[in-house]
Amino acid sequence: MTIQTRAYAAPSATGELIPFAFERRDPRPTDVVIDILFCGVCHSDIHSARNEWHGTQYPFVPGHEIVGRVNAVGNQVTKFKTGDLVGIGCLVDSCRNCPSCADGLEQYCDNGFTGTYGGEDKIGGTPHQRTLGGYSDKITVDERFVLRMPENLDPAAAAPLLCAGITTYSPLMHWKVTKGQKVGIIGLGGLGHMGVKFAHAMGAHVVMITTSPEKGADAKKLGADEVLLSKDAAAMKVAQNSFDFLLNTIPVGHDTNPYMGLLKRDATMVVVGAVEPLTHVSGIPFIFRRRSMAGSLIGGLPETQEMLDFCGKHNIVCDIEKIAIQDINKAYERTVKGDVKYRFVIDLATLKKT
Ligand SMILES: [Zn+2]
Ligand SMILES: [Zn+2]
Repeated sequence: MTIQTRAYAAPSATGELIPFAFERRDPRPTDVVIDILFCGVCHSDIHSARNEWHGTQYPFVPGHEIVGRVNAVGNQVTKFKTGDLVGIGCLVDSCRNCPSCADGLEQYCDNGFTGTYGGEDKIGGTPHQRTLGGYSDKITVDERFVLRMPENLDPAAAAPLLCAGITTYSPLMHWKVTKGQKVGIIGLGGLGHMGVKFAHAMGAHVVMITTSPEKGADAKKLGADEVLLSKDAAAMKVAQNSFDFLLNTIPVGHDTNPYMGLLKRDATMVVVGAVEPLTHVSGIPFIFRRRSMAGSLIGGLPETQEMLDFCGKHNIVCDIEKIAIQDINKAYERTVKGDVKYRFVIDLATLKKT
């Protein structure tokens, strides 16, 4: 027996997403079967669907910001019951044995984590060996990789917390951003807007660093205390050596030197957006004032749950535009142009109309 699932899939690197049917596995003893309500549209979905990061296999079902309700559980599941509101982020499995997994940092699994889409199901036995994502009406996942969603949050607006949220929350926590620190968030998109909200909720003095005065004004509405326009050479000079922490969400390769100079002695800039080469990285800002640049990838399961609980307590969700699945290709075009405030979220109830 298997679970009939409807979805939207990319048939090839150049084809638009189209309706697609496949079968999910029946629950193993520790599995949870989820009826998907909402799924966020992450820029990674588009890179993968278009094979821009190479290795995509087709048909390809994107989506790793999944919120739904538990429909069935395996007979050894202890954490969840039918009807619970739950989430799935970027991971659905890892080796569970290495030092990173033992520390609850499954995203850094030494043997490679299994992505929610485009991953290889290491346990096997599924009709599709490659994992297929959340642009679908059902998903079966081991309970270790299922998150509890706070019931007080709008489930659609909470969906992008599972990727954009944890990607920005984790470095702010790891580098111990605290009340009163001056924190710069570089870039205002899906990641940057969550960085502003989290840093603000943690009590930091938040500075939006952007090329665009319009984005600066938007960031103030989201909780930024100040705006620093990175093209304003005089303002950038005044801001030298003044930041306790920088969260860099720019999604493409860029010159990091002007930003590094903004850090105080011993402070760190964390890159979470760009996977492309960072050009002309000069040693000077590192050597003078002992500054650091680091990177950070999403978060492990325990920290993702901590982030969701933090959001429940502080009433933090993403700013979203809800769409029907039939509008996904238009949403991709707009996401590529940066024309979204700040995340598209698919209402999977619309799959029934397909
Ligand atoms: Zn993502
Ligand atoms: Zn591992």
